[in-house]
Amino acid sequence: MKALQYREIGAAPVVVDVPTPEPGPGEVLLEVTAAGVCHSDIAVMSWSAEELPFELPLTLGHEGAGTVAALGDGVHGLEIGDSVAVYGPWGCGRCIKCSAGEENYCLRAGELQIQPPGLGAPGAIAEYLIVDDARHLVPLGDLDPVRTVSLTDAGLTPYHAIKRSLPKLPPGSTAVVIGTGGLGHVGIQMLRALTSARVIALDVNEEKLDFARQVGAHEAVLSDEKAAHRVTELTGGIGAQAVFDFVGVEPTVATAGACASVDSDVVIIGIGGGNLPVGFGGGTLPAGLGQLAYEVSVRSPYWGSRDELIEVFELAREQAIDVHVETYSLDDAPRAYERLHDGKINGRAVILPNG
Ligand code: NAD
Ligand code: ZN
Ligand code: ZN
Repeated sequence: MKALQYREIGAAPVVVDVPTPEPGPGEVLLEVTAAGVCHSDIAVMSWSAEELPFELPLTLGHEGAGTVAALGDGVHGLEIGDSVAVYGPWGCGRCIKCSAGEENYCLRAGELQIQPPGLGAPGAIAEYLIVDDARHLVPLGDLDPVRTVSLTDAGLTPYHAIKRSLPKLPPGSTAVVIGTGGLGHVGIQMLRALTSARVIALDVNEEKLDFARQVGAHEAVLSDEKAAHRVTELTGGIGAQAVFDFVGVEPTVATAGACASVDSDVVIIGIGGGNLPVGFGGGTLPAGLGQLAYEVSVRSPYWGSRDELIEVFELAREQAIDVHVETYSLDDAPRAYERLHDGKINGRAVILPNG
């Protein structure tokens, strides 16, 4: 079968022929209908050999959907041909976190060397994908896999981040979304669907800001050194009650901290490596942006839980959220990564390996 692989540190991914896998006991083989392209892959491909936590070659793609093609021994409850999406942050299934559905925070994944598809295990940008356990599949039913596949990450990750901050976002509050790409454009829609907060979006050019307005942002502000000041102005000098940073570089976390109101949440989702200093009287922000306000909570969440993924699909079913999709064939998948790298994708690039 064909697969898109990252094979050499620093090199672009390439389409190669690899053996079609067969499901072992307890595993499920999917014929992949759609696979999303996430910016985290760009980060992974920029890491040195020492930083990379898994072996190469790696088949990319941690957002996957497919139809059930074969069942390993002992798998029940699925039929050949079922349309399913893959819950990506695989865990052990037994620890206290996994038992609550929070496999993204499995306490034993490191020790047991369990890695997500596309981030250690072979990923979804291939004609076929092995899923390690049927519990990692969510039936899609009538949902279109192409429009839905990215909800497994670009939907689930913002949903988890926003859900935990809902108590901070009553009527009259303001939420800020920094970075309105794959995750951010879904995050804006979720904030509109789940809260009556005013949503202020930040991104780097007018095209992205227009896109943010199209998907529901009330205000869209250029993300520069004046952005925090602009947010403060737009909120009558108070600041935002929750700031979701889908970029996470030094300047954006500084902006996030500077526009966060007292007793607010700053949620750093982007893996750009920026740090926000937290501490009583010690939360001095860079770039002359002052101090973090009293009782700001700072979180850095990872992906989301299995029950949250089901909730995200319900939001899609209610048409409260919709992923803006650009589709590519498997042969053309390297170009999707180039365009994502160059900031040229509005929404999400989705690969159709059998399309
Ligand atoms: P993307 O490339 O689709 O979107 C990023 C957006 O940020 C783009 O619109 C870009 O123009 C904008 N941007 C870049 N620099 C900016 C700046 N200085 N200020 C404001 N906007 C800026 O990326 P994505 O796939 O949505 O991923 C977003 C981030 O989230 C990445 O860092 C990714 O690795 C990370 N991520 C984290 C998790 C998690 O579990 N924490 C999960 C998935 C992705
Ligand atoms: Zn991702
Ligand atoms: Zn576990």
